[in-house]
Amino acid sequence: MGNTAMNSMKAFLFDLDGCIYYGDTPAAGAKELLELLKHEGKRCFFVTNNSTQTAKEIASKMSRIGIQAEPEDIVTVTDNAGHYLKGKFGGCVKVKVAGSEALQSSVLGAGHELIPIDSPMPADVILVGRDVTFDYDKLQMIVNDVHRGAKVIGANCDSHHVGTGGVIVPETGSLTAAIETVAGLKIEHIGKPSPYLFECVLNRYGLDPDHCIMVGDNFMTDMAGGVQAGLRTVWINEHNPYLRESMPGIFPDYIVKNMEQLLNIYTK
Ligand code: PLP
Ligand code: CA
Repeated sequence: MGNTAMNSMKAFLFDLDGCIYYGDTPAAGAKELLELLKHEGKRCFFVTNNSTQTAKEIASKMSRIGIQAEPEDIVTVTDNAGHYLKGKFGGCVKVKVAGSEALQSSVLGAGHELIPIDSPMPADVILVGRDVTFDYDKLQMIVNDVHRGAKVIGANCDSHHVGTGGVIVPETGSLTAAIETVAGLKIEHIGKPSPYLFECVLNRYGLDPDHCIMVGDNFMTDMAGGVQAGLRTVWINEHNPYLRESMPGIFPDYIVKNMEQLLNIYTK
């Protein structure tokens, strides 16, 4: 069995899409590595910028593709957005959501007042997630709400993710970039690389960052976020080998092609 700093870690935080699975296809080696880690008594958590699915939905999708995970061990932007807004704005606020039904439920579940996105009523906050109905009219509504004092919060900053068959799927970051351009502001995002989701895991389970390692494929979200949260990092770079150059100050502890290679390093 290996004897590296990685083997001495107590908890592993895994990104999901592009790391544990690709759409509906499990990554080769992921199931075996997770089973081995659990067998050795390591804690395994999953931290995802997904703004459309809840932890429960993701756990059942994972189970369907043969990877076991408890919903409690999956930390999503979707489930935590309502709670984040409470902390950020010091209590319940009036929120418009450009995003999924699950994101809207998160806002309601935390006790905020949910205002329809096309309502003429003003909102305190506009929460933007992956919104497949986003269009010019919605952009105009949001920008004019901003001019009436609404704050905009993005679920995540990913410009895109790679979908089944390698197709580029536009993500929340492309929508918040459009709002930033027209409204002339800088939008804060809830998901990785911001510290919030990392803090959710570390605080909820009383983990010491020195004993935790973040494994992910997105250099800007998983690696930058993991380093800033004080974790060790593993970069899965099979699909994004050049991204590193765009963030010269961030150095992952390990760089591997995929989960199979990570399993090899861990067991050798
Ligand atoms: N948001 C949505 C809606 C997604 O579908 C995905 C990936 O499929 C992501 C975010 C990125 O998730 P992750 O952080 O697990 O890579
Ligand atoms: Ca990912």
